[in-house]
Order: sequence, then structure tokens, then C-alpha cells
Amino acid sequence: MSNFSFIRPQLAKIKAYTPHPGGKVNLNLDRLDTNESPYDLSQELKQKLASIYQNQIETNRYPDGSHYHLKQAISTYVNESGNSNITLDNISVGNGSDELIRSLLIATCLNNSGSILVADPTFSMYAILAETLGINVVKIGRSETDFSIDLDSANQAINNQNNQIKVIFVVHPNSPTGNALTPQEKDWLRSISEEILVVIDEAYFEFSQDTLVGELKEHPNWIILRTFSKAFRLASLRVGYAIAHPQIISALEKIRLPYNLPSFTQTAALLTLTERESILKTIPETIKEREKVYSNLSKISGIKICPSAGNFVFLQLKNNEEMAEKLKQEGTLVRHTCNGLRITIGTPEENDRTIKRIIRFTEKS
Ligand SMILES: *Cc1c(COP(=O)(O)O)cnc(C)c1O
Repeated sequence: MSNFSFIRPQLAKIKAYTPHPGGKVNLNLDRLDTNESPYDLSQELKQKLASIYQNQIETNRYPDGSHYHLKQAISTYVNESGNSNITLDNISVGNGSDELIRSLLIATCLNNSGSILVADPTFSMYAILAETLGINVVKIGRSETDFSIDLDSANQAINNQNNQIKVIFVVHPNSPTGNALTPQEKDWLRSISEEILVVIDEAYFEFSQDTLVGELKEHPNWIILRTFSKAFRLASLRVGYAIAHPQIISALEKIRLPYNLPSFTQTAALLTLTERESILKTIPETIKEREKVYSNLSKISGIKICPSAGNFVFLQLKNNEEMAEKLKQEGTLVRHTCNGLRITIGTPEENDRTIKRIIRFTEKS
């Protein structure tokens, strides 16, 4: 019998990331735990997509491994909304931004060649992926009042030569806490040595409308990540993209699998970009709903809730786990994480139910 000693011992300590084990998500629940859009693509768009699939995609042929048309559409979209002038050389497309995060880690820190710095609470995937690659993660904290990064600790961690920080990951706005980068935090990023890669994850850009893409030219050590999983409603199809200096992009292109994006996925992403005017029309509603959820929940004593620039809110109560469990029993799925609850903004009806349920449970206890 093999004892499977060929598997790296490091992996024994790691649990596989399975958000819904057994594929069991009760479709009757309000699914507000993963920050997806509450709206599927319209039947009309799905039909367009199906027709392209039927008539133009040859399933026996490999996809376009250069992502040429998709990159073109991405560059147009980014430039029109970001005061930038990026070209195809500035873009790499991944199977979700998760793939890009992994490729970045491989390109920078593999083989004990450096550590990453994250400010907790933040997106868990950076540390999870780093750990599977045996890459050291240095964690610093955030302010308990507004969740801004503890910049003194960050600078100390960077200046400590033992840490060998090579990459800093920030989310703008942060998940799970929702805060956008403050002017101080932006200045800090501008001051980081060009020897360190700064990853700015703008997964929620369409909700915050605040981007640093216009400053990429002055900062060749910055990279911006975006995704089609949130505002563009394509979480099921896995598309993310990175924007950076051509030299960083070329490293990512070497590392990624040659056919990382199926033809169908490329077609869908391209279609949502072409139709972005109609797809992004729901953003103002989401923002309005977010403010509704925020103002209703912030009135409740015992709940700490912070202003959010994303399509979700983060709240902290005395007993977060119990609240998550009660909400689930009543039909609302939320994410219990980082000593709080992250709740996605859903449809107006879903949000009303969330508010009602939380009010009921806080009144009872
Ligand atoms: C949702 C999210 C992503 C998107 O990941 P995909 O792999 O593109 O689905 C990336 N970063 C953050 C911070 C997110 O919240």
C-alpha cells in the first residue's frame, strides 16, 4: 500500500476550498453569500449566445489561445472608464481572477524567492493559493473602526528584511469589509519601492467607480485585477483580467495554460462587453439597495456596519455565527467570515427579507 509520500507534506495541512460541499445549494434560499449579481443574463442575450455557440463555435477546434478579440474589447472598456491608454500588451486574461492570482504568485515568490503581504480581514484566496504553493504569507491588521490598513505595521513588515516581501495584495474596495482605498492608503501604494509588486484587485470596480488604472503608467510595479464574475454576471463562466506593464503581462502569459479560456467563455465575455450598457444598467439599483440595507441595519443597536463601496455589506454582531445560522434557517444565505457577516446586495425583495429577518432576530435576543 502506498502511503502517498510523493505528495508534498505541506498539502496535508491544507483543506480544499469547497464553498458548497456536495454541490448542495438550496435554490430556494436567498443566495447572498458569494457577491454574485442577483440577475442572470437575459433570455435574449442567452439566445444570442446560444446561437453563436450553435453556428460559429467549432467544438472540435481549440479556442483562440491569444484571446485577441476579448483583449481588444477589454482595452476599449477599460480606457473608456478609466482615463487610461492601455493596449493588448497590457492585458492578460485568466480563468477567473483566481487563476491570475496564482500565476502572479508563481511568477514572483515560488521556490522561497519571497513572501506576500496581506492586510486581514481581506480576500482569503491570496493566502490560500500562496499556501498551496509553499509561499510565505505575512499578515498585518486593519483599523477596527474603518478597516483601513495599519500602514505602520505594513511598513515595518516591508522593512523587516527577514520577511522578503515581494508582493502586496490590496482589494479596492476591500472584501469582506467594503471600504475603498483611502487617500492615505493610495499615497502609501504610490510610495512603495518599485522592487515590490503591488496587486490592486478591483473586482468591485463597477460598483465603486474608483480605479487606479490611470496611474499604471507611472507605476510599472502595479497590476490591476478585474473580473467578469460580479457586475458582468458571468460567475459561472470564469473570466478575469489583469492590466499591467507589458513585462509583467509577459510573465503571466508564460505561466498560464495555453488554452485557459474555453471558446464559449470567451464568446460570452465578449458579448457582455458589447452589451455592457444594458448589463450594467442594474448597478445604480444595487447601489441604491446597498444604501437601503446599510441605513436600515445601522439603526439597530448591537450591530456594527461599515459604509461599503461594493455590492455587499459587512456587519459585526455579538454572535455572528448564530445569526448566520438563524438567517439560513429562515432562508437567507450569508457569508460568516472574519468575525462578521458579509451579505451580498440582492434583488430589492431579497434585501427586504434580509433586513426584516435581521431586525426580528436582534429584537428577540
Ligand atoms: C469575487 C472576487 C474575485 C473574483 O474572482 P474570480 O476568480 O474572477 O471569480 C476576485 N477578487 C476579489 C476580491 C473578489 O471578491
